[in-house]
Amino acid sequence: MKEQNYLDHLVGVFGQPVAENPGVVIQDAAFEAMGLERWHFLTLDVDKDKLEDAIKGLKAFKMRGINCTIPHKIAVMDYLDEISESAKLIGAVNMIVNNDGHLFGENTDGKGFMMSLESNGVDVKGKKAVVFGAGGAARAICVEMGLAGAADITIVNRAQDRPLGDALMAILQENTKTECRYIDWDGPFSIPEGTDIVVNATSVGLYPDVEVMPNINLDSITSDMFVQDVIPNPTETALIKELRCRGIPCATGAGMLINQAALNIEMWTGKKPDKDVMYKALEEALA
Ligand code: NDP
Repeated sequence: MKEQNYLDHLVGVFGQPVAENPGVVIQDAAFEAMGLERWHFLTLDVDKDKLEDAIKGLKAFKMRGINCTIPHKIAVMDYLDEISESAKLIGAVNMIVNNDGHLFGENTDGKGFMMSLESNGVDVKGKKAVVFGAGGAARAICVEMGLAGAADITIVNRAQDRPLGDALMAILQENTKTECRYIDWDGPFSIPEGTDIVVNATSVGLYPDVEVMPNINLDSITSDMFVQDVIPNPTETALIKELRCRGIPCATGAGMLINQAALNIEMWTGKKPDKDVMYKALEEALA
């Protein structure tokens, strides 16, 4: 007789706003392809002051885990039993694993970024990088690149947020051997010769402002550099389209998003999802 087991396994995302977050599309597609039909990804609108209640709910429902996005990535750290070393350095958690009530926090944003670089044949060890932005994504990316042995990172951000850039520099200086510097972004920025990796870790180009490009002198980007965008929506930003026309090796933010989602699924289920299925689901959702 067929086993009668209808227990649901719940994961999801806590955020606000969160309605436009495409996580559910790629996660559900992955679960279906894996034959995990009783696994469900919930997109949950959680008020800033209701995070503690949401965590209690997560435990009460024995949810296997959760992603956290704006505004909960930092605040959630107060409710965790254990936090990975890199998430501590980054100062933010974007995914939690619930091991029988013991909550473990990890940051898979930077790890997804590193996997995207790797899948494009880029090894950061000993390399020189320029990173635009100093927010949450830039922090995760710089910490992971620093821990992976990047030789040199230049952080470029709008002058108004110098403290953010300085804080990130301090983390890199105290915890890695990476040379780093901060430059105010107050006009078209020219990428220095000898740079290997360029990262757009800002929200410039994000839907609905899809025609906008980061203020970079594109002629300073040469074909021996690799450019990684973080924007997952649209799947191809104006920057990536222009770089492709110019023959510059580059990758979209979809790679980072899919890789971090795949890592989350593996940590929750113990099984590797099919990333091609996830890419296809994302493309269909954003078409
Ligand atoms: P934050 O709000 O923490 O940081 C945003 C960054 O973008 C800041 O450095 C900000 O500079 C900069 N910025 C915003 N507008 C402009 C502008 N017009 N010109 C120059 N700089 C600008 O956001 P996150 O770091 O969390 O997210 C950044 C992007 O990364 C988002 O688009 C998000 O979708 C994407 N992301 C993608 C992931 C993926 O898996 N692909 C994962 C996580 C994030 P300032 O400090 O001066 O405001």
